Amino acid sequence: MSDQISRTAIVTGSARGIGAAVAKRLATDGMAVAVLDLDEKACQAVVDQITEAGGKALAVGCDVSNEDAVGAAVDRVASELGAPTVLVNNAGVLRDNLIFKMSADDWDTVMNVHLRGSFLMTRAAQKYMTKEKYGRIVNLSSTSAQGNRGQVNYSAAKAGLQGFTKTLAIELGKFGVTANSIAPGFIATDMTKATAERVGMEFEEFKKAAATQIPVARAGEPEDIAAAASFFCSEEAGFVSGQVLYVAGGPKD
Ligand code: NAP
Repeated sequence: MSDQISRTAIVTGSARGIGAAVAKRLATDGMAVAVLDLDEKACQAVVDQITEAGGKALAVGCDVSNEDAVGAAVDRVASELGAPTVLVNNAGVLRDNLIFKMSADDWDTVMNVHLRGSFLMTRAAQKYMTKEKYGRIVNLSSTSAQGNRGQVNYSAAKAGLQGFTKTLAIELGKFGVTANSIAPGFIATDMTKATAERVGMEFEEFKKAAATQIPVARAGEPEDIAAAASFFCSEEAGFVSGQVLYVAGGPKD
C-alpha cells in the first residue's frame, strides 16, 4: 500500500469485471474505495478481497441512473469513508441490436446507465472535489464510440462520454479536478462473455477470434484497464486532463 490513504474513491459497477479490477487496484494504490453496484450484497466479495489485502472498502448498493439513490450513496460514502475525490464511472449495460430491431426501451436503458448515470454520479461527487480543491474523474468509454454494428445506442453513449469528459475537464480544472476517459477494446469479462453467448460461440473461441484482430495478439484483461485508471487517478497525473486513452492492444480496436 502507498501513502495515498487519505483519498476516497468511488468505482461504479465494481461488483465484477473491469470495475472490480479498478476498485482493487485503487485500493492497492492506497485509496479507501466505495465498491458501488446495483446489488449491495454482490459488492461484498470485492470489499472482502480489499480488506483482506490490508485496504479499506465499503459496499454500496445504488442504481446510478436514479437521482435520489445517487445523492444518498455519494453522501453515505462521504460520511463513512471520507470525501470522495476520485470517481470512476464504469457501470454499464449492453442492449445490442440492429437499429431496425432496436426498441426505444433498449435505447433509453443504455443512455440512462452510461450517460445519465455518469452525469448524476459526477454532479454529486464534484461537490466534494471542488470543496477539497482536488479531484480525479475517469469515464469508461469504448472503441465502440467510433461505430460498431449492432450498437447504435452503446456507441452513441460511449461517444457522448468522450464529450462529457472534455467538458468536465474545462469546467472543473480550476478546482484541481481532472477528467479523463478510457476507451477499452475487447476485454474478457461477463459483458463480452454474454456477447459470445448471444452470437452462439464458446467464450474461449470468441476470445481467440478477437485476438486475431488485435495487434498485441491477445484479448485484454480487466487489469489492463485498471493500470490505466490507476495512472489517471494518481496525484501525479494532475496536468493530464480531457484525454481519451484507447486501451485496446493497438491504435484502436
Ligand atoms: P460487466 O462485467 O457487465 O460489469 C458491469 C457492472 O455494472 C455490473 O456489475 C453491473 O451490475 C453494473 N451495473 C449495470 N447497471 C448499473 C446501474 N444502473 N447502476 C450501478 N451498477 C450497474 O461489464 P465490464 O465488461 O466490466 O464493463 C465495464 C465498463 O467498461 C462498462 O462501462 C463497459 O461499457 C465498458 N467497456 C467494456 C468493454 C469490454 O470489452 N468488456 C469494452 C469497452 C468498454 P449487474 O451485474 O447487477 O448488472
